[in-house]
Amino acid sequence: MTGQSEYSVSRRRMVEEQLRPRGIHDPHVLRIMEAVPRHLFVDPTFAGRAYSDHALPIGQEQTISQPYIVALMTQALELTGDEKVLEIGTGSGYQTAILAELADRVFTIERIPSIGHQAKERLTAMGYSTIVFRISDGTVGWKEMAPFDRVIVTAGAPKIPAFLDEQLRIGGTCVVPVGDPSNQNLVRITRAEDGLREEVLCSCTFVPLIGREGWSQGEPG
Ligand code: SAH
Repeated sequence: MTGQSEYSVSRRRMVEEQLRPRGIHDPHVLRIMEAVPRHLFVDPTFAGRAYSDHALPIGQEQTISQPYIVALMTQALELTGDEKVLEIGTGSGYQTAILAELADRVFTIERIPSIGHQAKERLTAMGYSTIVFRISDGTVGWKEMAPFDRVIVTAGAPKIPAFLDEQLRIGGTCVVPVGDPSNQNLVRITRAEDGLREEVLCSCTFVPLIGREGWSQGEPG
């Protein structure tokens, strides 16, 4: 049996060994990564590995992202607490929880119903009340709720999402993995008055973003 205190020791070690040495320095991000119980976002059989330095399966060939990648993407969004955030790819809901802790409101979209429903149940039971859930294809964004101050895509996209032109506020930022199904660049996009600016943060591997503006189902990934 692993007790709560052992999990908090694992979380502290995760922060000190996996996040800080790799350049995660935002104190809010470090504090939240040390606080949110990641082991509750995986199947109990994986709970003992929840704070290890890798992604883990969450069923249906999907994964909960590696802690470092969650921290890096969150830090890149530079949240101050006032933002309205759109997340594409709810998955386990772990990244969603981190966003909810650091932003004002989170709108999250998942395409696989069973995964989305489980995340909603989990986050609701944990007391999160500023998250709005939706099951649909997130590759076209969420027009009715736009504009967003921040957009985060947690599945690998074939290209920069076209909906940003209309749904990302001017001055807002988006973090999205862009590339082929097996390897992507994590890109931070800033929307300026005169268009989108792009900056590559690192290379990464996410499960594919599947949908109208993404990959088609059945493509290699
Ligand atoms: N941040 C999540 C990542 C889960 S993996 C976590 O750490 O748990 C990526 C998720 O994106 C999967 O659950 C997958 O089903 C979902 N996804 C893929 N394409 C999507 C789309 N077009 N719209 C919404 N979700 C999508």
